[in-house]
Amino acid sequence: MLVHLTQSCSLGCPHCMQDAKPSNNHMSRETAEKIADFCRESGDFLITISGGEPLEHPQALELIHYFAYHFQLVTVCTNGIELLDKEFFAKYEKLPFNVATQISTHRDFYTSYSRLKEFKSLEKKLAFCTVYDMDFARTDTYRISSQGRAINMQSQRKSPSCGNMILVANQVSSWCSLITEIRRKRYFCTPSVGFNGSVYLGESWLCESIGSINEDTDTLYRRTQNFRGCNGCADSKELLFRGLRQLGKVL
Ligand code: SF4
Ligand code: SF4
Repeated sequence: MLVHLTQSCSLGCPHCMQDAKPSNNHMSRETAEKIADFCRESGDFLITISGGEPLEHPQALELIHYFAYHFQLVTVCTNGIELLDKEFFAKYEKLPFNVATQISTHRDFYTSYSRLKEFKSLEKKLAFCTVYDMDFARTDTYRISSQGRAINMQSQRKSPSCGNMILVANQVSSWCSLITEIRRKRYFCTPSVGFNGSVYLGESWLCESIGSINEDTDTLYRRTQNFRGCNGCADSKELLFRGLRQLGKVL
């Protein structure tokens, strides 16, 4: 699961597909524990922690530690700013060995791009740390979905991120087998869970929620099978419908 630890982020990038803002909502410890139970019941053992900016959560280290104790691998997706604080970094580097770090920046979109060299230095200091300079990789808008504040961008990503979940759900027989198959296909960012436990088939909390972690997984599985996308990235719905037609699920 991709876990949105917080809706806060002080950078406020123009391309944010989450519409993260400073001083927004944070996930409670109680919800984090329920999410861990939900993931285990779903047969998931890989957690991706995102936000907003997850390291702006006041209990970020405590919660990452908690997830690392319960799961095989925890990947923290961050803009890297908090890690440049020496005091914070000294605590962060003591997290368990199964915590990986992914730092993202982009010349055109992240106000933090000027600190790229400092981010790169962290790759050597942390055991499993990757810095994505998306501009250097010439991916440009490739990785930026047209959701949230990025809705009007010329994204090259034309398939809605909920599509994988819907298409696979129509080929397997339960929520657990859906999650297993999605991981086997190396899709690690869906489904996603919001700060309050809402479940989304896409990566963004602006996607339409299919329910909550407090509901039973059979209900979530049936809703996933029948979900047909929303208007959030409607330009790409045709691809989803083409896949469903091939499965004989729509006329
Ligand atoms: S894209 Fe990332 S760094 Fe930028 S505002 Fe959104 S959460 Fe923050
Ligand atoms: S179609 Fe809607 S639910 Fe699906 S990924 Fe796009 S915004 Fe999210």
